[in-house]
Amino acid sequence: MIELKNVSKFYYNKGIIASGISRVNLKLDRGEFVVITGESGSGKSTLLNVISGMDSYEEGEMFIEGRPTSHFMEKDFAEYRKHYIGNVFQEFNLINSYTVYQNVELVLLINGVRRQFVRQKVRDILEKVGMSAHAGTKVSKLSGGQMQRVAIARALAKETDIIVADEPTGNLDSSSAEEIVELLSEISKDKLVIVVTHDFEQFRARATRMIRMHDGRIAEDLRLARRREIKREMAQEQEPAEKTRSRKKEKRGRQLQTGRLSGTSKVRLGVRNTFNVVPKFLLLLIVFAFLLTAVTSQYTSYLSQKDESSKVGYNNYFTNLTLDRIVIKKNDGSPFDAADEDAISSISNVKSIAEADILRDSVLYLEDEDFSYQAVPRADKEMTGTLLTGRMPQAKGEVVLAVSKGETPKGEAAEKNLDKTYLVDTDQYETKEALKVVGLAQKEEGVGAISDYAEVYMTPETLDLFLANMYHEHSSIDVTLNGKKQTAEPGDTAYDIMKCDKVKKGDVLAPPEANSYFDDNVSKGKSLKAGVSNAYYAATKTLKIKDIYTEKNYEKLTGRKDFEMTAGVLFVSPEDYYDLFTPDNYQATIYVEDVESIDDTKRALEEAGYSVLPLKDVLVPLLSDMMQMIQLPITIVVILALFFITYFVIRLIMRSRTGYYSILRMLGMDRKAVRRIIDIELVTVMTIAFMIFAAAALLATFGYLPVEQIRELVRHMQLEGYVILYVIMLIMSLMISGKFSRHLFKDSAMSVYREEV
Ligand code: ADP
Ligand code: MG
Repeated sequence: MIELKNVSKFYYNKGIIASGISRVNLKLDRGEFVVITGESGSGKSTLLNVISGMDSYEEGEMFIEGRPTSHFMEKDFAEYRKHYIGNVFQEFNLINSYTVYQNVELVLLINGVRRQFVRQKVRDILEKVGMSAHAGTKVSKLSGGQMQRVAIARALAKETDIIVADEPTGNLDSSSAEEIVELLSEISKDKLVIVVTHDFEQFRARATRMIRMHDGRIAEDLRLARRREIKREMAQEQEPAEKTRSRKKEKRGRQLQTGRLSGTSKVRLGVRNTFNVVPKFLLLLIVFAFLLTAVTSQYTSYLSQKDESSKVGYNNYFTNLTLDRIVIKKNDGSPFDAADEDAISSISNVKSIAEADILRDSVLYLEDEDFSYQAVPRADKEMTGTLLTGRMPQAKGEVVLAVSKGETPKGEAAEKNLDKTYLVDTDQYETKEALKVVGLAQKEEGVGAISDYAEVYMTPETLDLFLANMYHEHSSIDVTLNGKKQTAEPGDTAYDIMKCDKVKKGDVLAPPEANSYFDDNVSKGKSLKAGVSNAYYAATKTLKIKDIYTEKNYEKLTGRKDFEMTAGVLFVSPEDYYDLFTPDNYQATIYVEDVESIDDTKRALEEAGYSVLPLKDVLVPLLSDMMQMIQLPITIVVILALFFITYFVIRLIMRSRTGYYSILRMLGMDRKAVRRIIDIELVTVMTIAFMIFAAAALLATFGYLPVEQIRELVRHMQLEGYVILYVIMLIMSLMISGKFSRHLFKDSAMSVYREEV
């Protein structure tokens, strides 16, 4: 059956060549129980490994049933091992995390035995080796003798003609050893059994042939009679019918095999392997979960920063920077009326409309020795917060002060603020207006508010004071005297306009310079034209110069003492002043409910015929474009680094399984099948980690899981984010699996296994 002619095997190790066996000549046949013996290092294992196709040889020729093998490639030897060789090892090489049953079943699955026959076959074989009672026991719980029985059962399951065993009794006590020898002898009746041992005495009674090795050569080759069994053999000889029957049965058994591991078996093995080494499973799970969390957190923090930098910004024109604010004007430039209010209110997502938009950006300073507030003026009807003490304003100069929750004045402080009067500037000349606090309120926390101001609520009459001042601050003033025009830009004093209680409607008090515009150098009694223009509107008024004020008569005419400060100003009556500076409403602010969909609201307003400017569109981001540009590549690099780190950690974990996978290979599984099993194993763990992650994310997002950190973590994750993440992890798992399975098969089965042990 097997013949070796002048076969030699060398080992190359770090440049040193060692001889394993040299010029071995040998012929072995079915029915033999061959025992190879000799001292340590004499070449026993090498000879056995060559015979069993576990190791290649360099010289001579080995024939298998007459066919030469010197041209064999590794895959040819794999095929040979698969069909001819059943292995029993000194270290058993069982899969410790499997049960006895599963170890034997594995071989049947690898050989493609049909599922419906597997169970019965495993039972029969375990019966044969006397291990039926332990079918469900984990191998790691067995004694040495029991393990070797399972190893033999596994070798038998392959139904090969040759069973090889290297030191099968080496790790056993003498009585277990005796049982194993008897079992092997039993098996050798219709197979070729080759055993390596340094202790021939254990086998003397059963062996049919003894080959003694010395220095890599055969020193002795003896044929022996099977003493104790001669009788029994003769008895069996008389029952040839039974023997043929059992042979036939075996043949039929082979026809039940497809010879290949089936797809479902691969899935079953892959899934079994995922879970049966619990620490490895947990470790992989943790590594995958770490990767998911770390990548998501990196992605989220990148998007958050981008988000923040687009939200946080400044603008030179608007001080009240809130993201829920939209400024609108009518396309034809006309003032807003009741119809506009209805049209705008009916648009969805519009929360409120504030007239006199310009007031949104004015800030009043209310301060004395106890308190100091920066507050925005608001119409009383706008108040949405809660009135804590006092009442709403009723008369001119009365206000409700609203501050945010943390700052709400309580107890004594509240009492002190209530009924207090603050003097507030109403123009650039420090004209003060008394504001009396008649109520205290808690501010409603604004949506997306960036600047945190207090609020003062007042009647429309009071509000006009500040409205006029705001328009005034943003207007150019043209004064035409005798056809000659002078302009005062915002902030200029000369030709600026102020209101004065002592001036009557239609009159104006002018500075002495006014005289120079007239030929007779007299302006008193003549008229001038005052014009106001700004981004919102333009208005003009013709006034009669009532008097010229000088330093001497300044206080008498105006009631003021600040002559130096107001040099060149024109004083008009409050009525004319308000005519010029509190026009109809040309520009309004809209607040929206939902900041996220503000662009939809913008579009709806545009369709309704308004010019629209959401404030978020005019914010200048604090982070420069440059910074944002760097952030993206940094994020990508960090995410790639995370994938690489996990890639190597997982490979490391898988390498610890080399022993397990090389056992699969020794049992005859090919690379594709091994790879598929590793694929399934990794993808299963990865998918479980992913499902846990996704479930936690969804539960937290929809509020079933009250963990704020998880919610924050997946804040920016959309469906496609999850899909991309899963696909990348899938690709990574398959890459690791491919690489690892190549590693497992890069060398002969024995070398890979040796590397591990
Ligand atoms: P035995 O099984 O009889 O103890 P081996 O077949 O293991 O002997 O070894 C035979 C010879 O080959 C010894 O000299 C040993 O040093 C050498 N040898 C065995 N395996 C290797 C190996 N993997 N690398 C290098 N030399 C080896
Ligand atoms: Mg050895």
